Amino acid sequence: MTLDPWLAKAAVLVSSIAMVVIRAPHGQRSRGVKVAKSGKGPLEIALLTVAWLGFFVPLIWVAAPLLAFADYPLRPVPFVAGIACLAVGLWFFHRSHVDLGTNWSITLEVREKHQLVTHGIYRRVRHPMYMALFLYSLGQASALPNWVAGPSYFVAFGLLFALRVGPEERMMREEFGADYDAYVARTRRLVPGIW
Ligand code: SAH
Repeated sequence: MTLDPWLAKAAVLVSSIAMVVIRAPHGQRSRGVKVAKSGKGPLEIALLTVAWLGFFVPLIWVAAPLLAFADYPLRPVPFVAGIACLAVGLWFFHRSHVDLGTNWSITLEVREKHQLVTHGIYRRVRHPMYMALFLYSLGQASALPNWVAGPSYFVAFGLLFALRVGPEERMMREEFGADYDAYVARTRRLVPGIW
């Protein structure tokens, strides 16, 4: 049994809009808080550009037949599993924005009066927003029946995560010292109790 690819197109559209809608109010609030220290170098700019492109490719697939050469039939099991991952990812994305508040930045930044957040969704893992984006991108890879557009955000975000997580933790360590060490000792990076 195969499903109508328009179902996947609707899912991509709705989840991309949800992502932007979840972030918008928090992004706006954060912009009102001055940046005290910025780690936005050339590597960060390159990674952010790649991540944006990776996020955009599925929308191109929705809007135009440009990537039709890489289409494959949409099956119910990967579609439903993908929707579940997208939904859980979006929920974690929302929760991590709520808990991080104005300490959030799209890049590596320390804001004035930056607080180390260790409560809520940050209690057991240090990077719940990245975990959310991994779930989201895996959901998209599973629900979107195209070999290029499906995994594009997973690949782009995976690269950003791999090259950013080390510098981000170093920046937090410089800022919060022993408090951050203690936080690292009692948490994992992405998956509670595992890694
Ligand atoms: N890596 C985190 C946050 C992503 S937003 C996550 O996945 O949930 C990136 C910004 O968040 C960084 O610039 C850093 O300043 C800030 N940040 C990361 N962890 C934080 C924490 N535990 N408390 C406060 N700010 C944090």
